[in-house]
Parts: sequence; structure tokens; C-alpha cells
Amino acid sequence: MSSAAPGGEPGPRRAAELGARLELLRGRVTAAAAAAGRDPAELTVVVVTKFFPAADVRALADLGVRDVGESRDQEAAAKAAELAPEHPALRWHFVGQLQTNKCRSVARYAAAVHSVDRPRLVAALAAGATAAGRELDCFVQVDLARELGEDADPARGGAAGDDVLRVADAVASAGPLRLAGLMAVAPRGQDPQRAFAALVRAAGRVRAGHPGAVHLSAGMSGDLEAAVAAGATHLRVGSAVLGTRPAAR
Ligand SMILES: *Cc1c(COP(=O)(O)O)cnc(C)c1O
Repeated sequence: MSSAAPGGEPGPRRAAELGARLELLRGRVTAAAAAAGRDPAELTVVVVTKFFPAADVRALADLGVRDVGESRDQEAAAKAAELAPEHPALRWHFVGQLQTNKCRSVARYAAAVHSVDRPRLVAALAAGATAAGRELDCFVQVDLARELGEDADPARGGAAGDDVLRVADAVASAGPLRLAGLMAVAPRGQDPQRAFAALVRAAGRVRAGHPGAVHLSAGMSGDLEAAVAAGATHLRVGSAVLGTRPAAR
């Protein structure tokens, strides 16, 4: 667990540790952008805070982080509610596998959902966003294992082949949803360069019909350099900033 003090205040030592790791990450991102000949201003770093306490999110927000990622609705909803009064400009990105019965809740606090992988989710998110009077950026999650001709990773989700287009079309025609682009996780044991190249190919197919879907959510703590080289616009980075996650409960 983190060294957050009771009462939800980040201990000064924890805040300093997060600040130091954030600086290292910013350096990595700047170097990756330079190596790829890209403007670092094109890159949004989403700090994935799942399993870490709200006190850590507060410390990160105090350090200037504006985009945070979460993978479970219950945990995310509680943190978003706790942080909203002090940090109303924080943007919550939902990056985990999503069930239709959670969409209504997610639409109340999330600015973006990175894990849209089937039409039923699109309908549920659209209904939730309408009920909340909000707009939601949506990324269609691509299963790169299947795109590369391998078995699906059931723990990860994601659409493949023509289903990517089908989900993208559904998002684009749902009033309160905006089709931001595509998202993927490089399959375990796969060369990330080869994996992200498959994502870029899928993005090309989607952009043929949706030229505004220019965003690519790819790259985590271990492979962000490859993602930046491939053209990622959103990096989802957890452990490089927060440390090793406590085991899933
Ligand atoms: C947890 C998670 C991340 C962050 O992973 P790290 O390896 O800790 O950087 C990124 N994307 C998704 C979808 C995640 O679930």
C-alpha cells in the first residue's frame, strides 16, 4: 500500500515521492517525443491511479496532474466525488473493462472512456451521458492479439476486425458521445512496436470514415516510448508514477 496518512492527506514523504516519479516520467515523455520528432504538447499523460487511495490522487492534482485513469467504477466514483470540491478541473478517464450496468455511473464523472468495445456499451454510455447532461469522449478498444492473428485475451477485452468499425460507427452516431479514436494494450510477450503498428493500421481503417477520430490511447509504464514512436496521443501510466500496485482485491 501507499504511505498515505490516515484522514486522506498524503504524507509529505509520499507527495515528494510522487513528485519525483512524476518528474522522471515527464522527462521520459519529453525524450520519447524528441526521439520521435513529435511535439510533447500533443501528448496527454493519464496517470492511472487504480488501487491507490484518493490521497494520492490529491497529491498528484496538487503537483499539476489534470488527467487520471481508473479501471473500476465503484472505486473511481468514490474518488471522483471526494476530489471534486478541491479539484473540479480533474479529468477522469475510465480505462478498465466495463459492464453495461456501470455505464450510467461512469457517465456521471468520466470525461473519457477508453474501453468501449461493443455496441451495447455504446448504447448504455449514451443513455448515461444523456441522463447526466454530459458529453463523453470515447476510445474504441482494440484487441491487438486478435488483430495480430492470435487468441483473444479475455481478461482485457477489445474489439477486432470489422467489429472495430462497427463500434466506432455506433459511437459516432450516438449524440452525447464523441469518437476520440482507438485504444489498446500491447499483448503480454508481444513486441510493442509490432503491436502498436497493428493499432495504427486499425486507426487508418476507422479514420477513412471518421477523419476526426485522431486520438490514440496507447503506451503504459513499460512501453510508452514505443507508443509515442507509433503516434500515441494519450499515454496511460500507472506504476511508473505510483509504484507497484497493491494486489487486486
Ligand atoms: C493499469 C492500467 C494501465 C497502467 O499500467 P502501468 O503498467 O502501471 O503503467 C494502463 N492501461 C490500462 C488499461 C490499465 O488497466
